[in-house]
Amino acid sequence: MFYQKDIETLPLEHLRKLQNERLQHLLQHVYHNVPFYKQQMNEKGLKPSDIQGVQDLHKLPFTHKSDLRDHYPFDLFAVPQQEVLRIHASSGTTGKPTVVGYSQKDLDIFDEVVARSLVCAGARPGMKLHNAYGYGLFTGGLGMHGGATKLGMAVIPVSGGMTDRQLLILQDFQPEVICCTPSYAQTLAEECKKRGIALDDLALQYAVLGAEPWTETIRTQVEAGLQVNATNIYGLSEIIGPGVSQEDYEEKGSGSYIWEDHFYPEVVDPKSGEPLPYGQEGVLVFTTLTKEAMPLLRYWTNDICSIQYDSGAKRTHIKMSQIKGRADDMLIIRGVNLFPSQVEVLIPPFKELQPNYQLRVRKQGSMDQVQVLIEHDGRLEEAQQAGLAAAFRQKIKENIGLSMDVVLKAPGEVPRSAGGKLSRVVDER
Ligand code: ADP
Repeated sequence: MFYQKDIETLPLEHLRKLQNERLQHLLQHVYHNVPFYKQQMNEKGLKPSDIQGVQDLHKLPFTHKSDLRDHYPFDLFAVPQQEVLRIHASSGTTGKPTVVGYSQKDLDIFDEVVARSLVCAGARPGMKLHNAYGYGLFTGGLGMHGGATKLGMAVIPVSGGMTDRQLLILQDFQPEVICCTPSYAQTLAEECKKRGIALDDLALQYAVLGAEPWTETIRTQVEAGLQVNATNIYGLSEIIGPGVSQEDYEEKGSGSYIWEDHFYPEVVDPKSGEPLPYGQEGVLVFTTLTKEAMPLLRYWTNDICSIQYDSGAKRTHIKMSQIKGRADDMLIIRGVNLFPSQVEVLIPPFKELQPNYQLRVRKQGSMDQVQVLIEHDGRLEEAQQAGLAAAFRQKIKENIGLSMDVVLKAPGEVPRSAGGKLSRVVDER
């Protein structure tokens, strides 16, 4: 099933034509309504008409998160204040939050891409959605809510936390679909097991997981632990929120469709900013083709992945790989490049370790020192913990070639942000 079959299966040449028409309109809109973009184009000696289509986008500079901060809170808005019907903000671990605004048309698009994503994940009208994303300034809760309503699902707006209540609702309200972060899905799965909740007594069939990077190992654990078909949903508030891309429940592992009639993707070299060929890993960059209130040109997401068309797939839109990390998560430790995911892939053979971890980097004298905070399953004696930490440390040393301190933490004790997200890297140098 599709939510909008015509657009989801549009032949590529028609999709390009549509993107190019939308891009023309977008460039006029931002040039005339956002002084920042007018100035940026003027500095490059460009007029909107110099960008004939998406193939010319590389002529434009990137928009960075810092540009949003510099124009805090509303100076990148492209419509009069009275046309802005909703304002969200992302958590902003450093200083002020990043603010985004939506017009009525933007909210309609948000609902549309989330509805599309839910269908792609296996959800159907008439099913119930257990929405365990946080409601509030974070786009996850309200974003999924709107799209599910548009699709014709009954939304249970549980929001994050309070696991006892979540479990009660899963058992008594019998939702067929759940959406939350992958790490919270793991927590729910562990709690079901601990409390002896029979999975056959739940109605869950599909889990739509996103807002943080995850792996095939986590998918296996969640699928077994909640008896669901689990797919990836990706998004960021600057572009719209969740629903920028979604994995199909019957095409798992082949990437997530980017709804490119609305969000035009590029992957560029993290250092030079040069566009990279399909299939190569780099920084994901988006141009919002249809947004009105806060459109963005070439927004530098900082997320590392690759994009590629999948000719055998149900839909024609391009697919993105799982996010490997954030470009600014890439650490240089004693001259060696390190992504948190390199540590993550070493976790699965250690059955007592959870994939919930954080790398902390400090200077000790002139030396970079990495500490790995990682959660164990809560069933270990202290002496066993020391042995496990030593074994994991050894594994890291053998595979990555760096010595790190491994510190075991009880379940839930690796620090999370207010939105419940784990940040994989804390660089204190
Ligand atoms: P906040 O900044 O408050 O965390 P955002 O919605 O802006 O809220 O967060 C977006 C970021 O979350 C993305 O840029 C990406 O790094 C991460 N993210 C979202 N969905 C996924 C996903 N499915 N896989 C990996 N990372 C994701």
